[in-house]
Parts: sequence; C-alpha cells; structure tokens
Amino acid sequence: MPIRCSKCNKAAVTFIRYNGTHLCKDHFIEYFERRVKREFRKQKSKKRLNRIAVALSGGKDSSVALYVTHMIYHKTTEIHAITVDEGIDGYRDKTIAIARNLCKELGVKHHIVSFREHVGKTMDDIAKIENEIGTCTYCGVFRRNCLNRKAKELDADVLVMGHNLDDYSQSILMNFVNADLEKLIRLGPHERVQPGLIPRILPLRMIPEKEVFLYAMLRGLETSLDECPYALSNRKKFRDMINELERDHPGTRHKIVQSYEQIKPLLSKHFPPAELKTCKYCGEPAASSICKACLLKEKLRSD
Ligand code: SF4
Ligand code: ZN
Repeated sequence: MPIRCSKCNKAAVTFIRYNGTHLCKDHFIEYFERRVKREFRKQKSKKRLNRIAVALSGGKDSSVALYVTHMIYHKTTEIHAITVDEGIDGYRDKTIAIARNLCKELGVKHHIVSFREHVGKTMDDIAKIENEIGTCTYCGVFRRNCLNRKAKELDADVLVMGHNLDDYSQSILMNFVNADLEKLIRLGPHERVQPGLIPRILPLRMIPEKEVFLYAMLRGLETSLDECPYALSNRKKFRDMINELERDHPGTRHKIVQSYEQIKPLLSKHFPPAELKTCKYCGEPAASSICKACLLKEKLRSD
C-alpha cells in the first residue's frame, strides 16, 4: 500500500522529515515553487526587475535556479544565463553541454565566460601550482569576478545563484568555525546595493539539496552528478557533520540559517560594508586599489 500525500489522496513521492509531511508530485512541486517565490519577494530590493542574470554551471542547483527563475519571470523580464568555464577537463565540459541544452530549451540567452580568456590560465593549470593559496580560493575569486563583470556588462538588476540550503548552512558554519565574521556577513543575499556589484539573489537557499534534486527529476531536467576533482575535503567534513545533526535533529539546517538571520543585523552594525574603490586594472569594485582577482593573477604570474 503506497504512502499517501498528507494534502490529498495521491501516492506520495517524498517525506519531508523536518515538517513531517508526505507529498505527492503536484504538492511537492507546489511547495517547492512557493518557497522560491517567497525568497524572490524577500530578497529583491527593486520592485520590478527588468533584466535577470542567472549563474548557470549546468549542475542540478543552477539548472533548477534557471528553470524556476524562467518560470516566474519569463513573461515580464529578460533573462540571461552566464556560465563560467573554469577549464576543468572532463568535468566542466559535460555541465556546459547541459547548460547549453537547457538554455536552448527555455529560449534563454546564454553567455560563456572562460578563465582562459579572463585569467589567462585554466583551473587545471592553476591546480598544478603549489603555494599557500588553495585551488578553490583562486577558483571562487575568479568566478565571482567573471560573473559580476558579465552581469554588469548585461546591465542585469540581479544575479541569481543556485546555492541550496545544504551549501548555505555549510558556508555559515564554516565561517563561524574560522571566526571569519566579516566573510560571514558578506554571504548573499545582499541587502545593501554596493556600487559596481550586482546584488545576488539565492532563491534556493532554504531548500535542501535532496529536494532540489527531486524537483530536477520531476521536472525532467538533465543533471550531472559528477563532482569537481578539486572539491575541498574541508567542506565535505562540514557536510557530513551537518548531515549527521540533521538526521538526529531534523530542521538543523534551517535553524543554522535562522540563527544567522537573527544575528545578521548586529553583525552588520559591527562590520559595516567597506566603501569600495575601483580596481586600477580591471575596473571591478575592490577594497583597495587592486581587486582580489587581479592580486591573485599577479601572484600566478610571479609563481
Ligand atoms: Fe572551483 Fe573548487 Fe568548486 Fe572545483 S570545487 S569548481 S575548483 S571552487
Ligand atoms: Zn581587478
């Protein structure tokens, strides 16, 4: 006898442990999209969005983020997808093909920005260099730089990112454990619009990874389960720890985010956003006269 949906009599496709409900396909999709719409309403600072850029890696999270953004906004707003090609052989090429297909299917304009072009090196080149800076630090800084530059060039009002609840709660906890409260407060969504920085919207930040995966499946979206060969083992530790807590105390991930939301106003007072300068090399916003991406590029040249 199949388990029935808590809202209707159809067969359930999932059990949401943290709120104790069984949901059929239709009610799960409705529940998913309702939360995404709520996050858009909550996070966007402008009433009307004329142009939205979506960071699309082609992984399940960003594919779902583009799909739902398109579903909600395609009638009123121009949508562009930006894919950053970091140059990770055997990994990124597969997800770029998925990204391309999805954009074609949805009729969304697709832009590919490559590290080779913007940084002068691929991540495969950078990963071979041994220094005190981690591979993912280079990748994260260069990716943010590429995305912001392209979103600005497109004159986008916001940049949509696909971070799910698992990613988001891990980032919060990692910054706590590293006592990096300044970085913690800079996690999106951004409340204050900084000149030169396209505000980020994270519509999936309250949705667990498994639910994003289920939604992708139910909507028939092509996804890749491959993991980047340079993925940090450090983050994996936090993922395992939070998963264990969630297993014993359902709702832990939501509570981590709720706690962060509660202390955010206090932290914002203590660490007000820096008055940004303009990088003398690339023109991007920077804390000093040279932005982090250009500093790292210099370091790569000197190593
Ligand atoms: Fe880049 Fe690290 Fe993510 Fe791989 S795991 S895509 S190297 S940030
Ligand atoms: Zn720069």
